[in-house]
Amino acid sequence: MTLRKQLYDGKAKTIFTGPGDDTLIQYFKDDATAYNAQKHAILAGKGILNNLISEHIMLYLKDQGIPTHFIERMNEREQLIRKVSIIPLEVVVRNIAAGSLVKRLAGDHIRISLGTVLDQPLVEYYLKEDALNDPIMASDHALAFGLATGEELDTIVEHTLTINTLMQGMFKSVGITLVDFKLEFGRLEGSNAIVLADEISPDNCRLWDIETGDKKDKDRFREDLGGLVEAYRDIANRLGLDCSALDQERKD
Ligand code: UDP
Repeated sequence: MTLRKQLYDGKAKTIFTGPGDDTLIQYFKDDATAYNAQKHAILAGKGILNNLISEHIMLYLKDQGIPTHFIERMNEREQLIRKVSIIPLEVVVRNIAAGSLVKRLAGDHIRISLGTVLDQPLVEYYLKEDALNDPIMASDHALAFGLATGEELDTIVEHTLTINTLMQGMFKSVGITLVDFKLEFGRLEGSNAIVLADEISPDNCRLWDIETGDKKDKDRFREDLGGLVEAYRDIANRLGLDCSALDQERKD
């Protein structure tokens, strides 16, 4: 057996070499960061919940025909994934106005405020570059600077809109409104096929309770509302996931 090697230590996950040349292991940490890591905390159990929730969503999307990097969950904090080269774009989908959209564009011409339901899903691109604070950009920037081809961007938008429809339905059925979320895509080693990568969890979605409007996502940390782990656990419970690993870790 070869020893695993750490390849990348991110804000919420660490990536290690996998058992095969075309696989990697992603480890979910308890670190929470916001505002480009200016704000940081360790929230015990967050990684376990994100691992479970992301597994559930990735399997559901895979089942519905979306190609993903996900292979299997290995244990409470790790997933086996296919090796991809990540396209340095953060693809954000918005169904309801919130966050930076409202801060940036609400005014006389664009009459939106927090909670405005958008007429159609809005797909935005941000450059994945911490040193520049992940600036928003047009798809033409991605093309002009060779980050992705036109064909790849078409595939990304097509998958993104399908994922949005599937996830909206999944969350609605458990009493949650999918406000917005962020996706990352990568190219599979060898074939260069575009697949969904990274994670989908309350760390990168806005999820509001349909009845109460309660926030069940990372805004609890961004806005110092407290109760983040409990909110993520509520999402996991509603999705029918077994959270016993969380209880076990808390007991140890
Ligand atoms: N998001 C993310 N990573 C980022 C930026 C945004 O996962 O680096 C997610 C965020 O959780 C939200 C959506 O993308 O669900 C839209 O975020 P927004 O642009 O409103 O930014 P924010 O208000 O979080 O700064």
